[in-house]
Amino acid sequence: MQTIFKDVVVIGGGVIGTAILRKLSFYQLEIALVEKQPDLCEGASKANSGIIHTGFDAPLGTIEAECLKRSRNLWPQLVEDLKIPYIPCGAVMVATTEEEKNIIEGKYIPNAEANGVEVEWVSIEELLETNPAVTSKAIGGLVIPEEAICDPFTATRAYAELAALNGAEVLLGNGVVGIEEIPEGLKVTLENKEEIVTKYVVNAAGVYSDQIARFIGDESFLITPRKGQFLLTEEAVEVSQVILPVPTAKSKGTLISPVVFGGFLLGPTAEDQEDKDDRSTSPEGIEQILKGCEKLIPDARGYDSIRQFAGVRAVCSLGDFVIKPSDVNNHMIHAAGIRSTGLSASPGVAEMVGEKLEEAGLELRVKEEALTEIPNLFSDDDDETGEIICLCRSISKGEIINAFKGPIPPVTIDGVKRRTGATLGECQGNCCIPKIMDLMKENGSQQPLKGLQNSYLTVKGGETSCTTN
Ligand SMILES: Cc1cc2nc3c(=O)[nH]c(=O)nc-3n(C[C@H](O)[C@H](O)[C@H](O)COP(=O)(O)OP(=O)(O)OC[C@H]3O[C@@H](n4cnc5c(N)ncnc54)[C@H](O)[C@@H]3O)c2cc1C
Repeated sequence: MQTIFKDVVVIGGGVIGTAILRKLSFYQLEIALVEKQPDLCEGASKANSGIIHTGFDAPLGTIEAECLKRSRNLWPQLVEDLKIPYIPCGAVMVATTEEEKNIIEGKYIPNAEANGVEVEWVSIEELLETNPAVTSKAIGGLVIPEEAICDPFTATRAYAELAALNGAEVLLGNGVVGIEEIPEGLKVTLENKEEIVTKYVVNAAGVYSDQIARFIGDESFLITPRKGQFLLTEEAVEVSQVILPVPTAKSKGTLISPVVFGGFLLGPTAEDQEDKDDRSTSPEGIEQILKGCEKLIPDARGYDSIRQFAGVRAVCSLGDFVIKPSDVNNHMIHAAGIRSTGLSASPGVAEMVGEKLEEAGLELRVKEEALTEIPNLFSDDDDETGEIICLCRSISKGEIINAFKGPIPPVTIDGVKRRTGATLGECQGNCCIPKIMDLMKENGSQQPLKGLQNSYLTVKGGETSCTTN
């Protein structure tokens, strides 16, 4: 079985792992990312509220607050470089009682100021002017102008695509099943028995990051899963900002947020569970969302939902992000316990992981020729037919074919959906999925059938190959 040699192997193709891969691709290093699912962004990174949090409410002095602070400065350039759909809509925490107003004044305003985030109290009149759907019983709200929304999948994919264009290797559908300490660093064994000898491993495996740590005998933290259910509506909700409740001692509550591609998200719940992979939705969860949201937006219960889904947060026993070398072996750097704000914090986390790698002994020499922005890979002329495949979202055949030609092509319907927006409209793919499947077949794009054919997808320098063992 083939052995691969690398300077750094990143485990996990979520927003954290890919952000780190991009950062490392700016240096003269041999790097790879290993993801057990057939595509990137299959964990928490695909099922979240898509909010770019400022960290106004982040607990002071935490690693999370520090990563969010660094990220605030990095997002504006990142959005440009990676062409991430992004709307700087702002957010407002709505006070419906005097008690809630006191909590905002006593806790959130001082916390935001200490974290260097601009906030402003607005009257109910000003609040309703921007967000007419909010309850008129509210007494005002705390506006956080710098909060924004973005497409989490584009962010994750673009991080990885830029890294792939800079020479990083992306191994999909091929999880890590073992890590052994060796004199050169660490030896990573993959599901297909391939081995990677690497100087350093970055552990960005989300809810499974504690299991990755256990491979080298590190038991310093435990990750437990916390589910968040959502519902998506395409009704015209009259709000232009993210509408946040005032958290209680028990829960952060449910919010209503515009979505970059249209529609509104209601949720999420916060349900501790044992199963790290359980992303089911339930009538009880949906009821909890509606109950919470109707306190802020009285019409919430009446909205038709086109989709319900759930994501699972990685709750860390240490109560903060874990971004540090393992105490057992400093050739493993943890980027773990990234629970609730990982999308927002991802550029800051990547920066910090780079520093930890350097402190652990990795030499970071800048690669002058590295791309810093995603180039225009396709011209408008590529879409010769103009045929529309997804009628709800007006996604053309050319756009879908271009996705297959991208640096990290999709091998699943979900992958096509997230790269193009097809199937995301009102019919949720009922009309276009058969046509997309035909296009996948015509373009040689098939999901690796793990266990059956044992085939794995590898992307290197923007070139894709599929190996069958
Ligand atoms: C309900 C909900 C709402 C949220 N809302 C927001 C929000 O609005 N804004 C925000 O900033 N953040 C939000 N978050 C948090 C954010 O989604 C997460 O912090 C972030 O996605 C974590 O990214 P990650 O890369 O660490 O984890 P993941 O995205 O879970 O990625 C980890 C990856 O590791 C892979 N993996 C696991 N084990 C192995 C193995 N053995 N080998 C190879 N690969 C492996 C997994 O398959 C997975 O793809 C929310 C989260 C949830 C659940």
